[in-house]
Amino acid sequence: MRRSYTFINVPQGLEELSRKDWRGRVEHDPVRFPRRYKSRADREVAALIASSLAYGRADVASRAIETVMDCLDGSPAKTIRSAGHGEIKDRLGGVKYRFSGSDDIALFLSAVGEVLRRHGSLERTFLAGFDAGEMDIRAALARFTTLLRSYAALLSRKRGLSHGFRHLVPDAGNGSPLKRLLLFLRWVVRPDDGIDLGLWSGVPPSSLVIPLDTHVFRIGGYLGLHDRRSPVWAAAREITDSLRRVDPADPLRFDFPLCHLGMSGACPVRRDPAKCAACPLRPACKACRGERKRSRISPESRGRLG
Ligand code: SF4
Repeated sequence: MRRSYTFINVPQGLEELSRKDWRGRVEHDPVRFPRRYKSRADREVAALIASSLAYGRADVASRAIETVMDCLDGSPAKTIRSAGHGEIKDRLGGVKYRFSGSDDIALFLSAVGEVLRRHGSLERTFLAGFDAGEMDIRAALARFTTLLRSYAALLSRKRGLSHGFRHLVPDAGNGSPLKRLLLFLRWVVRPDDGIDLGLWSGVPPSSLVIPLDTHVFRIGGYLGLHDRRSPVWAAAREITDSLRRVDPADPLRFDFPLCHLGMSGACPVRRDPAKCAACPLRPACKACRGERKRSRISPESRGRLG
């Protein structure tokens, strides 16, 4: 076994952390966008759109998601299922966000619409490529993104897909941690606990891999959940495997608390003894004991998490 650290106090700390009521943080998280819709179909589609745009500064990303959702009227699923590619482009006008221009976002929405028309729902599409016996959910994600990319290629009538589109629908076959796709899966697969949506029943929560962001990577290191220097796919797997030791059936129930512990400022990068004194993770935390350096994630590594 590769790990040399002890796991003492980690399960208790995580359980205590997760017992706090985190639902008040939903309004600071992009999961609030799909939660606004009532129907299952709208929640599912809104979850894919919101998670795909959830990168960069949270406030700026939120404005972009809000604008895109506004262009789809009150029912994103109905709108993108019925609208042609030209109409979607017109609806978006000049909406763009960082790496993705308006044409890229329109192509992404049109490809999702094509999936809905041909396969009925995103869940049905994903399940067609999902094998519960397979060790790695990445393979199923690769089949899902390959299909989306193939529909986009048919619709775009250009040679090759743009960088902006490929950023929205990443290649699941390379070594990136696929944060946004895994976030989407967490939202739709985990039970509705006031945070996640509990929409899909065909994928067990035990098969999920953590959507690795800067906070989870940093705090996960403090707890010894991983010992990687960079936030690569292997780090996401290590953290998930560690969390499985605490809850084999639903390891990602600790994801939202860990992420928002950092996001809310309750666990800052700079040492703050008052905050550590109030933190349920303190008995397990190496940074608090001075056994692990606190450091910001490098800009290069941050880029990998997009
Ligand atoms: S550094 Fe302090 S606040 Fe952050 S996880 Fe450790 S004990 Fe908690």
